[in-house]
Amino acid sequence: MKMRAPEYYKEFKCIADKCKDSCCSAGWEIDIDDETAKFYKSVPGEFGDKLRKKVDFSGPSHFILNNNGNCPFLNDCGLCDIYINLGEEKLCQICTDHPRYFEWFDGVKECGVGLCCEEAARIILSQNRHFKTYEIDIPFEGCDEYDDEIYNYLLKCRTKIIEYLDNDEISLTERIKNILWYAYMTQLDLDSGLLDDDDIISVDTDETVDKKGVGDGMASIIDFFMTLEPNSDNWIPCLQRNLKLYKTTFENGILSEEARENLNIFEKKYHEINIYLKNIAIYFVWRYFLKGCFDGDVLSKIKLMTVSISVLKWLFYCHWLEYEDVNLLDCVEIVKSYSEEIEYSEDNMNSIFDAFCDLELFDVENLLKL
Ligand code: SF4
Repeated sequence: MKMRAPEYYKEFKCIADKCKDSCCSAGWEIDIDDETAKFYKSVPGEFGDKLRKKVDFSGPSHFILNNNGNCPFLNDCGLCDIYINLGEEKLCQICTDHPRYFEWFDGVKECGVGLCCEEAARIILSQNRHFKTYEIDIPFEGCDEYDDEIYNYLLKCRTKIIEYLDNDEISLTERIKNILWYAYMTQLDLDSGLLDDDDIISVDTDETVDKKGVGDGMASIIDFFMTLEPNSDNWIPCLQRNLKLYKTTFENGILSEEARENLNIFEKKYHEINIYLKNIAIYFVWRYFLKGCFDGDVLSKIKLMTVSISVLKWLFYCHWLEYEDVNLLDCVEIVKSYSEEIEYSEDNMNSIFDAFCDLELFDVENLLKL
């Protein structure tokens, strides 16, 4: 069996006490796998007593978080007491894996690192080479059932999408629009049982509609995001503040001349922002597109990429408006918060995928105007 991962996967190493916002203080409930829970019950001495006091073994075992949402084993130096007292190999599966993610197919396990971790986000955003993957041999692991023919077809489509995204000759906005249209056509094919090998083509969008739609569309998307369950207390106020700032740049839903100039300055001055966004777009395609072979839905995966890139670009732009600067670490911070709030909340991801099907706001023709 093979393990397949992006080249940058090898670069990741947890920065532990140097991390500004440790995943151990994110307020997430951390489940402990059965084997580790059994071991924690048997650890002798004072530390064993602490383990038994701070782990809830009733139902699925998990750490009992402190009132501030921290893991009880995160010490004042930002290090993990389980790691210190028992060694890395005694961490539970989730703590060992995080922020790595996995997807299993027949004979292949795909991996990556998630944007919810600041170090992983820094590595992903700062890639300045073309996207490459590598494979190594690993022992056999099973997977859920899926249709082989669809898998092979989607694998080809994903390669095509990632190569297209990685071609900087066309503007990123154009690339994303064309990919959205390609995913729309691919979904139609899938729904009618056809596995056509279509090309990614250029989609024409009406410039005048484009200019008007962008303000209204983005404001409505942010309004929708504000209906989701926040993870951090800062998230909704951050969206509100940025939305207010952004609305001042529009006149009747159309970008004011001044704002248009600002946006041009922003895009010219911060060319690297497009590289960060491209790397994030590839991350979303790599991570989610192939899940389509389990649920038959590829369009939603590309909508997720499209909406995420639009919102993140908007947040980067607002940061620049507010602070007159935006650098790699600011972008990493923004992406990490977005990922924690959206990608790493199962409820919010479910709400978003439902909205992609139910709300006109997320129809392909409206997303093409973003
Ligand atoms: S968020 Fe990432 S870098 Fe920070 S403690 Fe967690 S795994 Fe390590």
